[in-house]
Amino acid sequence: MISQGKYVRFPEGKTKAVTLSYDDGVEQDKRLIEILKKYQMKATFNISCGCMAEEGCVYKKGEIFRRMSLHQCKETYTRDICEVATHGFTHPYLTELETVMVMDQIVCDRIGLEETFGAIISGHAYPYGSNNDKVAEVLKLAGIDYARTVYSSETFGMPEDWLMWKPTCHHDNPKLTELTDKFLQKEVKQEVQLFYLWGHTHELEENNNWSVIEEFCKKMSGREDIWYATNKEIYEYMESYRHLRYSANGKMIYNPTCSDVWVEIDGEVHKVGVGEKNTLNFRK
Ligand SMILES: [Zn+2]
Repeated sequence: MISQGKYVRFPEGKTKAVTLSYDDGVEQDKRLIEILKKYQMKATFNISCGCMAEEGCVYKKGEIFRRMSLHQCKETYTRDICEVATHGFTHPYLTELETVMVMDQIVCDRIGLEETFGAIISGHAYPYGSNNDKVAEVLKLAGIDYARTVYSSETFGMPEDWLMWKPTCHHDNPKLTELTDKFLQKEVKQEVQLFYLWGHTHELEENNNWSVIEEFCKKMSGREDIWYATNKEIYEYMESYRHLRYSANGKMIYNPTCSDVWVEIDGEVHKVGVGEKNTLNFRK
């Protein structure tokens, strides 16, 4: 019998994770990606396929909001550290649309992004943060697994509702440094902890505060207890954990998924490998 408790652990038994989420597919995302590469961190980029710039588009001097073209997006969001997710085909207020139009906005964006990136796209960020239960329901029917809101939780818990995923905070949140330090210092005994940062990279140019993101990544990077992941990786890992199967006395754990899962049981971390032959067995 499991006498004290059972908690999910991230890959390799890590207790914390950090993810970033940036919207609108603007040129400044390239600079963020360079920073992420330097610090070996990952992010999810939310893009509206119907709003991309025309190929060869030249912006006026001083224009800050510079969306990229399809070709530029394809070159920018490399698969190793970037996930691409939907953001509404034409970036509308989804709550103002009829159900069929919400469906159209999501499906058209998915199809466009999937054709461009050759990957199954199942994430979303609500344009303007505009959401309600009806929109979330349509997202689900359109095959979206998780969707980011703009409500800062200022906490590090895993989402209770994946289609109403509240980030920890925006990069301009005055509490960013305080929250970062709190997260890094936190000793994890029970539930895993997640720091979820969101924003728009054109804001960093507009406010001339790239140092904020550079400082954040510098502080958060290179930690043995942190898993650096995209939104999708976190969602899929938690889904694998949810699919573990247990014997009634808790002494056997079988992992029917396709990725290894780590669990902490009564204070000890165990890897539950894929498949029946790797069933974790405490009977012996
Ligand atoms: Zn947006």
